[in-house]
Amino acid sequence: MQSLRKNLAIVSCMDTRLVNFLSEKLGIDRGDAKVIKNAGNIITDDTLRSLVVAIYLLDVNKIMVVGHTDCGMKSVDIEDIKNKMLERGANPYFTPNLEQWLGKIDSEEDNIIKGVELTKNHPAIPNDVDVRGYIIDVETGELTRLC
Ligand SMILES: [Zn+2]
Repeated sequence: MQSLRKNLAIVSCMDTRLVNFLSEKLGIDRGDAKVIKNAGNIITDDTLRSLVVAIYLLDVNKIMVVGHTDCGMKSVDIEDIKNKMLERGANPYFTPNLEQWLGKIDSEEDNIIKGVELTKNHPAIPNDVDVRGYIIDVETGELTRLC
């Protein structure tokens, strides 16, 4: 019997506290879910590109956007990053809005809900794909559905 997890894609944060945690929680093995990670589990054009490939080429019909408590992208200090870039000879002014470019978030929950809406409403994502949002507590491992 083929695992149901094969038709699942997960968008999650690159936070190292989630390594193994999420796969254990969801019973995911090698060869199962397609996992797309970035800083703050933000639905960007590149995330959508991977989801589109997952849907049309890899038979994904279920998407989980999984954020977590205590996400670093909420507390990220833009001025600090800007200063560190300057100290190391990099140019933080390559983009008109570094904060937006980095994807600083105001709330983990709102970011997850917004990500689910963006994914559901994207013209390249078909209506028959089930998109849901969850938050994982990094202390307890508890996974809660948000939308
Ligand atoms: Zn995070």
